[in-house]
Amino acid sequence: MSPGEAAFDFTGRVALVTGAGRGIGHAIAQALLETGAEVVGVSRTDESARRLAQLDPEGERLVSFAADVASEQAAEEAVGAALTRFGRLDILINNAGQRSKRGPISELDISDWDEVQATNVRSMYLFCRAAERPLREAGPGYVVNVGSLAGFFGIGYAAAYSASKGAVAQLTKSLAADWASSGIQVNAVAPGYIETDMNADLRRDDPDRARAFGERIPLGRWGRPDDVVGPVLFLCTPAAGYIHGVVLPVDGGVLAR
Ligand code: NAD
Repeated sequence: MSPGEAAFDFTGRVALVTGAGRGIGHAIAQALLETGAEVVGVSRTDESARRLAQLDPEGERLVSFAADVASEQAAEEAVGAALTRFGRLDILINNAGQRSKRGPISELDISDWDEVQATNVRSMYLFCRAAERPLREAGPGYVVNVGSLAGFFGIGYAAAYSASKGAVAQLTKSLAADWASSGIQVNAVAPGYIETDMNADLRRDDPDRARAFGERIPLGRWGRPDDVVGPVLFLCTPAAGYIHGVVLPVDGGVLAR
């Protein structure tokens, strides 16, 4: 049984998940479907949009399409799909993100810097802006942004990524302050080391370094996408109703050490 199935019931709720084609976003979208929600999933490629669509081949409770989340049109289209297909929007999970090329800042192209900020931060601004009205009307509406431990401490040779995740944390807090009185809860999770395609190359090409990361985790293992699902779903329930503007580490204890 997945963490979602164990404790949650989102029947009648409509959720929008970005980066839903694989990894953490896919696990979140799947758990939302399994717990009764209707879901709009945005993926980067047609292939990943098709992979997500397989979770509900009849498309009864799932709309899956490919788009670049950094585009204003994608945000409008995704929110529009939730409203036209399912009539409302209760939950926005801003999960899509990308790593920066690893290296010193002197070797980082301006285009790399811009692309990481656009995918990781601009997308959240666009999707939050597009979703504000329906989330307010849903009352309560929920936003969960996916940040990173890189928003707490700087990761060497990953300046663009770390800067973007710091911005995610501050965007989350600022919107929480703005929207609490409108009945919209805005929070973030900050995953630690989670085994996904994002770091598959590290685990494959540099297993010693990957093992060293693992040894820094008090829980003694890398996380899995499902480890992030429960905290995200919890932040979308009335049980979390007095939690606004937190960035919740989901890291097996890394920050505690
Ligand atoms: P992943 O690479 O498997 O998934 C990222 C998803 O975002 C993919 O589905 C990808 O297609 C999508 N995406 C990227 N750019 C996009 C764009 N421009 N438009 C639309 N979709 C786009 O990695 P993941 O680990 O599942 O990452 C999910 C989130 O978790 C990211 O925000 C990432 O920064 C964050 N995170 C991951 C880890 C980890 O260790 N895996 C740690 C901390 C934070």
